[in-house]
Amino acid sequence: MLSKVQIYILKIKNMVSNMAKKIASISAMILCVVIFSGLLALADEQQTQQRVTSLGGAEFTLSENLPQNNNTAPTNRAPKGAKSFAVVLGAGTPLPNPYKMGPSFVVVSNGYPYFIDCGEGAWRGMSKACIAHGWLTNSFDLNTLKYLFITHLHCDHTVGIPSWVLNAYKCGSKASKEIYGPKGTEAMMKNIMAAWKIDINDMLYGVTKSSKKGVTIATHEIDDDGLIYQDKNVKVYAYRKYHGNIKDNFAYRFECEDGRIFAFTGDGFSCPGLLQACKDADVAFVEVMSKENIADVPWANKAQVEYITHNYHMWPEELALMQKESGLKKLVLIHEQNFAPVEKYSRLGLLEECKRAGVKEPVFSSVDGDVY
Ligand SMILES: [Zn+2]
Ligand SMILES: [Zn+2]
Repeated sequence: MLSKVQIYILKIKNMVSNMAKKIASISAMILCVVIFSGLLALADEQQTQQRVTSLGGAEFTLSENLPQNNNTAPTNRAPKGAKSFAVVLGAGTPLPNPYKMGPSFVVVSNGYPYFIDCGEGAWRGMSKACIAHGWLTNSFDLNTLKYLFITHLHCDHTVGIPSWVLNAYKCGSKASKEIYGPKGTEAMMKNIMAAWKIDINDMLYGVTKSSKKGVTIATHEIDDDGLIYQDKNVKVYAYRKYHGNIKDNFAYRFECEDGRIFAFTGDGFSCPGLLQACKDADVAFVEVMSKENIADVPWANKAQVEYITHNYHMWPEELALMQKESGLKKLVLIHEQNFAPVEKYSRLGLLEECKRAGVKEPVFSSVDGDVY
């Protein structure tokens, strides 16, 4: 017979052994959870690394295209009664800013439009400008959409061409197109026509026969600086300039019949050709890239950013120097590249940075639909 004390000791032994088993099983569970979480974290990190690498090594920020801060009404800053003026159809960059179309502008002289660059949304940009300024409608008669001058063949400046050409025909325009641009423009236009052959044939032979004569395009490739086009409304001059690896690219100078002069520099930093285009211009439309927020640039790593910003784009202090040297009268910022983090982003942040770098008034940060 076991004594009461022996029974008590046995019970305690059982209890301890049960507890040890429970602790062992809980420990095993905890270990599993820890290992599983570790694997998840590793997978997540690998995914992040993959995403970052695919964007060129920098964290992708969308500050420039977040809707907040970015929407503002267009303004008419042209002198009252001016017979010539310029309209911003697209003040944007390659980033998908929902309020800024791709780079695209138009000079209207004596009521006739001359387009400069044709970025994403240029076709729709005309409507947007007309909604803001009803009187502009007269400047965009379908049969006057004829002349286009391309600064360079980067896609953000040209991706709107198929729309600008083909939708005009689809809507019944009878104007043939005259497209001026650097070497490569002719091949681009031929390829655009080939790519939309089915649609063009439908316009020619389909039910609507919206373009009985066909889509007619004449391209003029520019080689040298100087006068490239003239009629009773305008004289257009082209000047070679620098924009990274894009060898053939031009700034344009429009001398209008009423004496007003407009310059469009396209992308690139200050150089003799760009200064010639802007010399004493009434209004110069010039790109600019932030230097202060360059560390936040989304599409390149530090070394690439150094190269790109030194070889492709205009910094605020260069812009200040260019403004002074060219004698331009009114500066309009376009193609603004401001990569401030979302929490610091301001629509006018780059304009302020330009002023800190020495850019003088009058200078404006443009929005789509502005008139100058
Ligand atoms: Zn560009
Ligand atoms: Zn470019």
